[in-house]
Amino acid sequence: MGGPFARGPREQSDEPLPGFKLAYPMLAADGRSCGFSGVTLGRAHVYRAVDDAICAHGSRHACPSRWCDCGFYCFHEIGSARDLACEPDHRSAVLLEIAASGRYRRYERGLRYARQRVRTVRIGRCECGRPAELLADSGAGSVGWRRLLPVCRSCAADRPVLTPDRFGELAGRITVALEPAATGAAPASAVPAEDPGAVALLHAEVAVLHARLDETLARVEHLQTTIDELTRGQP
Ligand SMILES: [Zn+2]
Ligand SMILES: [Zn+2]
Repeated sequence: MGGPFARGPREQSDEPLPGFKLAYPMLAADGRSCGFSGVTLGRAHVYRAVDDAICAHGSRHACPSRWCDCGFYCFHEIGSARDLACEPDHRSAVLLEIAASGRYRRYERGLRYARQRVRTVRIGRCECGRPAELLADSGAGSVGWRRLLPVCRSCAADRPVLTPDRFGELAGRITVALEPAATGAAPASAVPAEDPGAVALLHAEVAVLHARLDETLARVEHLQTTIDELTRGQP
């Protein structure tokens, strides 16, 4: 390809290329559809499960352009997306497994590309650290869209929530999976605590010892009085 494509992206793929990224789950104001918004560039724009990139800066060029930073982004490795999710700013994001297609540019750790299909959404942790099971209204959003927040059942309390399945349905029948919780830290319930039975028994034994000591002291006192009386009685 030459002419008008000379400055375009170097590569083009009709075969979908797998990738991983973070996104915020979004619910339309009318509650009838779900989408995603970027965690860095293009935060204000909501994209659908299957969508084409548009320029985040309002230019009308095709994405991704060599002269602009717009377009969809993804990592090659799931680990890179998980690493990014540890940052405080990204803790409320979900992890997407995507298929990239169309024009793309390759980077060391990922791609910038034109067309995207979200294959799977992975929900990680609640802000409290427990595994998230639901998506609640976060209170944040953009025009026409509410941003959802992954939460555990206790933090969800009585807030309005979507189940992962419902989110998947509203996003266009995509799979939503709950990430396994274990990543090194154990829940407090798994850390051995003192046996409450043994503690109660120890308390009871100490109480008996105190009673015996009191009894002994009383006897000593009684003996002392007797000795004093006897001594006083002596000439
Ligand atoms: Zn652009
Ligand atoms: Zn929680």
